[in-house]
Amino acid sequence: MKKFKLLRFKGGVKIMFSQILFILLVVLSLFYPLMSGAKTIKAHAHGESNWSLAFEGQTGRLMIDTPAESLLGFEKEPKKKKEIEKANEALAQFEKSISQMVVIPEMYGCQWSKKALDIIRAEPESKHCEIEGEFEITCQKNLDEAKITFNIQKYFPRFRLVNFEILFGNIQKSLPVTKSGTKVYLK
Ligand SMILES: [Zn+2]
Repeated sequence: MKKFKLLRFKGGVKIMFSQILFILLVVLSLFYPLMSGAKTIKAHAHGESNWSLAFEGQTGRLMIDTPAESLLGFEKEPKKKKEIEKANEALAQFEKSISQMVVIPEMYGCQWSKKALDIIRAEPESKHCEIEGEFEITCQKNLDEAKITFNIQKYFPRFRLVNFEILFGNIQKSLPVTKSGTKVYLK
């Protein structure tokens, strides 16, 4: 009788232990995304970037968030003189080409100005860098029904997939831009 009880007890402990393990696993899986939150949110896929164009009246703002590789051709933080030169050259080329990569027809008389184009680390300890850009666009006419053409890959082919968000008054559009010549109408 005593032996039997002991066995039951042992069995009971076993069940409890596996239950605790299960609960631990569930709790861990629930908290894991929170604990590694920065990683999950910041993890980037090379070749994929997020651009957004928001217009209010005649003034617009283009925001760019991309792995550095798409723009610079490499990801590590430029430190050597040659790397810094190469990065600066690519950034200058990007700034120069921006109005030809996101083409607003000439009749709207838009002027582009760079607000930011910075190389930042994806995470504090990461070897991967990203680029955050901001451009302001000031136009002479309202862009109602304007056709915007994307020629991003023509200038920077490493932008394999640009997830493009557009906000124009009440219009909200999102489209994947994977090749030059992609068009969107602001209507
Ligand atoms: Zn990377």
